Amino acid sequence: MTVDRILPTDEAHDLLDLTTELADRELAPRAAQYEERAEFPREVLRTLGRAGLLGLPYPQEHGGAAQPYEVYLQVLEILAGRWLAVAEAVSVHTLSCYPLARFGTDEQRKLLPDMLDGELLGAYCLSEPQGGSDAAALTTRAVQDGDTYTVTGTKAWITHARVADFYNVFCRTGGPGPKGISCLLVDRATDGLYPQTAERTMGLRSSPVAQVVFDAARVPADRLIGGAGSGFTIAMSALDAGRLGIAACAVGLAQAALDYAVGYARQRQQFGRAIIDFQGLGFTLADHATQISAARALLLSAARLRDAGRPYSIEAAKAKLFATDVAMRVTTDAVQVLGGAGYVLDHPVERYMREAKVLQIVEGTNQIQRLVIARSLARD
Ligand SMILES: Cc1cc2nc3c(=O)[nH]c(=O)nc-3n(C[C@H](O)[C@H](O)[C@H](O)COP(=O)(O)OP(=O)(O)OC[C@H]3O[C@@H](n4cnc5c(N)ncnc54)[C@H](O)[C@@H]3O)c2cc1C
Repeated sequence: MTVDRILPTDEAHDLLDLTTELADRELAPRAAQYEERAEFPREVLRTLGRAGLLGLPYPQEHGGAAQPYEVYLQVLEILAGRWLAVAEAVSVHTLSCYPLARFGTDEQRKLLPDMLDGELLGAYCLSEPQGGSDAAALTTRAVQDGDTYTVTGTKAWITHARVADFYNVFCRTGGPGPKGISCLLVDRATDGLYPQTAERTMGLRSSPVAQVVFDAARVPADRLIGGAGSGFTIAMSALDAGRLGIAACAVGLAQAALDYAVGYARQRQQFGRAIIDFQGLGFTLADHATQISAARALLLSAARLRDAGRPYSIEAAKAKLFATDVAMRVTTDAVQVLGGAGYVLDHPVERYMREAKVLQIVEGTNQIQRLVIARSLARD
């Protein structure tokens, strides 16, 4: 189904056309096979980088494309409809460039062009084995000695752990709580940095996650981003933007599931008619179409607040919560619409359903989004 989009510029229309063409050619034909083999598509990300899709919301002076966030998110949505793991990789990479782009010094930002053109791939290391939701309690420690930090601890569930070239590592340089946390930008080649074996996940298998162990890893002190003690603020600010990326992935995935279910329901005959003509199914699909449109509208409304320089973190939490719950519902029902055919690997809907689940968990579980929204209601 074609989505009718109102975009801010002609350039944005061209960008979305280019994205659709690339996604149809480079992503859609490969997704199922790479997912089955749990193979990370590094070359596909290089192709997207060469097309300028890995630095879309960042300034041109640093090698970005200076696109409004609302345009970047619609690019992600299109990619997610063809291959969620690639869209998620773009979203995580974009998130990983954020601390340096937003809080780095001019000297540190000299690294940005190679990051934004995708030559270097990023990872964002906040979660730890003993806790993801309570990020302010993290225990990975960095101790400064002259011009070096020595980092010790374990990060968990890190997307790109084994394939990243740089890692944003949130670590404790001070006392307990959020004010004791700092952000270090760590190179892959650092001695004492050990990515572990990939986890065996139920979906998103071509985007393997793993722990990253820091065993007295020595990081130059000039890789401290934003000053000692500002790491938690950086992490939360990055996640506000990242959550919109996850919401966009959810909308793209849900749209793909709906399109597939509608295509199937139009041609599948039972009792002498197309199953889409049974009201029980048609109403379900109508609800899905409505919920996807609502999720897209919520997401774009939050993005436009961000583009206007206005506070948007509560709206981002709402968009992430709503869009990912919609994706879970739509993909689960898409399996039902296909009946037995929905349960086999010949059709992509079972994969969509497995993939949707992770979106309710990453970048703050949906319970944590509710917590953020509820707290804002209690405060105002
Ligand atoms: C595929 C995948 C990729 C990931 N990629 C990354 C990455 O690149 N970088 C990174 O840093 N992390 C990443 N994560 C980690 C992810 O962000 C965490 O899994 C998530 O934040 C939850 O943390 P946790 O797993 O420790 O669960 P916990 O925090 O232990 O939560 C367990 C359950 O308790 C609930 N809960 C916790 N606190 C509350 C509360 N106050 N109120 C109500 N319910 C609560 C949670 O919602 C959840 O249902 C990834 C995870 C996965 C699965």
